[in-house]
Amino acid sequence: MRVGIIGAGAAGLAAGYDLARAGNAVVIFEAAPFAGGQAATIEVGGGRLELGYHHLFTNDTAMIELMDELGIGGSLRWVPSTVGTYAGGKIYPFVTPMDLLRFSAMPFRDRVNLGLVTLRLQRHRDWKILEGVTAREWLESHASRASYRVWWEPMLRGKFGRFHDQVGMPWLWGKIQTRVKSRKGLFGREMLGYPVHSFDEIFTTLIAQVLKRGGAVRLSCPVKRVVVEDGRAVGVEIESGGVRTTERFDAILSTVPSFEFPKLVDLPEDYRKKLAAVHYLAAVVVILELKSPLTGTYWMNIADRSVPFLGVIEHTNLMPPDLYGGSHVVYLTNYLDRADPMFKMSQTELVDTYLPHLSKFNPKFERSWVKRVHYNAVSAAQPIIGPGYSQRIPSHQTPIDRLWLANTTQIYPEDRGTNYSVRMGREVARMIRAAGDTTAR
Ligand SMILES: Cc1cc2nc3c(=O)[nH]c(=O)nc-3n(C[C@H](O)[C@H](O)[C@H](O)COP(=O)(O)OP(=O)(O)OC[C@H]3O[C@@H](n4cnc5c(N)ncnc54)[C@H](O)[C@@H]3O)c2cc1C
Repeated sequence: MRVGIIGAGAAGLAAGYDLARAGNAVVIFEAAPFAGGQAATIEVGGGRLELGYHHLFTNDTAMIELMDELGIGGSLRWVPSTVGTYAGGKIYPFVTPMDLLRFSAMPFRDRVNLGLVTLRLQRHRDWKILEGVTAREWLESHASRASYRVWWEPMLRGKFGRFHDQVGMPWLWGKIQTRVKSRKGLFGREMLGYPVHSFDEIFTTLIAQVLKRGGAVRLSCPVKRVVVEDGRAVGVEIESGGVRTTERFDAILSTVPSFEFPKLVDLPEDYRKKLAAVHYLAAVVVILELKSPLTGTYWMNIADRSVPFLGVIEHTNLMPPDLYGGSHVVYLTNYLDRADPMFKMSQTELVDTYLPHLSKFNPKFERSWVKRVHYNAVSAAQPIIGPGYSQRIPSHQTPIDRLWLANTTQIYPEDRGTNYSVRMGREVARMIRAAGDTTAR
């Protein structure tokens, strides 16, 4: 079979790898001049660094297995994480569960409540029972008021901004499960994984495998339309130098976001409605290369609405600065609506807005510490999956024959992540092969 894949992110490349290995002729089209999608990297101080902070959890088995299979499993480093929360003008470490008892931003009885609610979610096995409610509704009936206000709400806001009250409960359940599984024992430290040569090594290796089997990866090559004849997808239209050409395929897999997909192809209303029902948050990320460390924490949630960003992720508190020419790398992140004025702010405007707040995390911080700034805006960073989603999830097989879809809105009940895009890409590759075998018979 000739298979056309739209998008060279984790899902498209994983699918392309499996399809090429199975003897299919694969062509991957990528709109950007680089591969990797949301986990793409840039050069920093001679090393590679993700444009958006990335790590793996110990239960990210699809990615861990893929790396082993590609012969690059040895690149994965497991490091104890350091997590903190900034609240009421103070940084509270959350490294061991005992730190919870020292979290004086709320009364002792609320800390106990927070611990008990977390434990309850850890022990809960069946996410389907939690499906009918939002995380906020569930927490309002199980968590104390103070623990909701000081802990849970900032955590939800940190991920979903003004949509924090719309996300379904399976998201929160999944988060707690993942974080527990990444701990060594109930009272142990959380371990996070990172490929020491960056996620780029995974994507570069996948591409090499596709090329080795006669496939192609075309960068800076956006697909403009999926060509449909008699209800069957037969090719893609691409544009080069103002000229549109069509390439024909036996099957087409699209990995583009749900709001982009209907621009490529006319879809029946039912399916289009399912796609349109999921709203995506965008992410705006400012990356600072600093002369000195800002904090002693890898991941800091901000539970203080006077700070104009939602998280400080100091990557070089996970990986050593010498990977980046000695620079200390700090991400300042915000999840917001694509219509939010902050999404349209320039790098300079964001830096001017953010930098005055950095002395809250380190009183010695000075602007002169900043060696270089990078900026990244991702329009489809985080789908907001509401309650009861298992009944509304769009199928991978679209209503158009031989046209498939694999994007982050189809990852459920887990939260989106490179691990799940790899798992989904490989699963859809299997479905495409199975459907191809049936048609060939
Ligand atoms: C700020 C941030 C932090 C994150 N942190 C983590 C983390 O710590 N760990 C983790 O595992 N995951 C993390 N993620 C999530 C992870 O990066 C994504 O879930 C994953 O990379 C999605 O892969 P994908 O292939 O499904 O989609 P994408 O990466 O979005 O790939 C889709 C590709 O399609 C291309 N495309 C779109 N339209 C067209 C077109 N018309 N023609 C051709 N190509 C097109 C896009 O350019 C893109 O490359 C993070 C994401 C963000 C934004």
